[in-house]
Amino acid sequence: MCGIVGAVSGRNIVPILVQGLQRLEYRGYDSCGVAVNAAQTQMGQAAGLQRARSTERVAELVAQVNAPSGGLQGTTGIAHTRWATHGAPAVHNAHPHFSPGPGVKAGEGKGRIGLVHNGIIENHEELRAELQAKGYAFASQTDTEVIAHLVDALYQGDLFEAVQAAVRQLRGAYAIAVMAKDE
Ligand code: GLU
Repeated sequence: MCGIVGAVSGRNIVPILVQGLQRLEYRGYDSCGVAVNAAQTQMGQAAGLQRARSTERVAELVAQVNAPSGGLQGTTGIAHTRWATHGAPAVHNAHPHFSPGPGVKAGEGKGRIGLVHNGIIENHEELRAELQAKGYAFASQTDTEVIAHLVDALYQGDLFEAVQAAVRQLRGAYAIAVMAKDE
């Protein structure tokens, strides 16, 4: 069973997020990841949504986020341990998933919405087709990425409203944590 963590603080939240993942490790997982909204450019890190993901243990993720060159820092963040249901256990399928908006090639562009998800979205295929028709490109095989793009498509400056509207279109059993670059 996977785990999700979300946190907001006045100081760097990454140690709290990875500690949350360490506490969830006992549940088992095939990959893990953490993302922050970096309000300003830090040493070796660009502003905006940034993430680190791994198909190894949380300890390897900790090494990535603490790397002297290009570590991760921010005051708002989300994190996840994944137990794959849709898509192989691979880095590109690991959460957090980002939506860079429509008209951007898969794997390119900056994240506007970042999301972690526990559970299954039953109507992901139909939603994926609708979002592809709107110009969203998919970088993973997960049902999760559909939610990130759906929230982006509905976002008009209020993340809570966009998430509420997105959830009304989802079928399945799930929990999510979401953040927006602009909030
Ligand atoms: N269905 C999602 C996936 O395959 C989430 C799985 C989970 O709950 O960890 O990525």
